[in-house]
Amino acid sequence: MPRFKMPVFRKMSEKGVARLLFPGGRVDGILCDITGVLRESSTSGDGIPIQGSLEALELLSKSGIQIRFVTNESKGTVRNNYCRPFLLVHDNVLQDFEGLNSDDPTCVVIGDAVDKFSYENLNKAFRLLKEKECDLISLGKGKYYREDGELTLDVGPYTAALEFAADRDAIVCGKPDKTFFQAALNSLGLPAERVIMIGDDIVSDVGGAQKSGIRGVLVRSGKYTQKDENHPVVKPDLIVDNLKALVDLIVQQ
Ligand SMILES: [Mg+2]
Repeated sequence: MPRFKMPVFRKMSEKGVARLLFPGGRVDGILCDITGVLRESSTSGDGIPIQGSLEALELLSKSGIQIRFVTNESKGTVRNNYCRPFLLVHDNVLQDFEGLNSDDPTCVVIGDAVDKFSYENLNKAFRLLKEKECDLISLGKGKYYREDGELTLDVGPYTAALEFAADRDAIVCGKPDKTFFQAALNSLGLPAERVIMIGDDIVSDVGGAQKSGIRGVLVRSGKYTQKDENHPVVKPDLIVDNLKALVDLIVQQ
């Protein structure tokens, strides 16, 4: 059950969808995580849509509330700023870096590389950081996610290992970095206090958003575990069963 009093009627939109007053004030924009909120992660394809998520998106589209999907699976920032990366990323995102020269690397780009996180590859990255003083760029810093029903290591633990060994901090391109959330707010054209972030990662999604002044909503889908409800550091503004449950609290047909 949600941890707050039921919202009150706010106004009827032009499209016939009632907007409700959400705890903490009006919501005009939603930042929405993808994996674990819209769909479950799977090694055998795009994953299964989470119950009610498609219906929720349809309802949102009628409500006039803006939505932006925020995922660490986008690599645009790296392309724009760095020229010669040593790529320690999954094969299925290599195309995002097509055309970049990787000779004599000036930076190490680390993403969720799964089986490519071998000792050999991590050691090569470490040597570039330590001996060539390359920058360390991490595509997000999530600790883990849920795939095929099992908790699975994300990029964050490997980034932390390289940071530890090379005595430096990574430049994080993605959640929970503040610049990432600020870019999302800029895209919406809304102030932080009129936006909420919904995600299944208590630290990167909820905690990261809150550090940028955005209300953070945790879903009980994806990588969520019961322990997240009593996290020692991050206290979500709201916990809901899924995206549909959240949308039902914000809009009403
Ligand atoms: Mg997620």
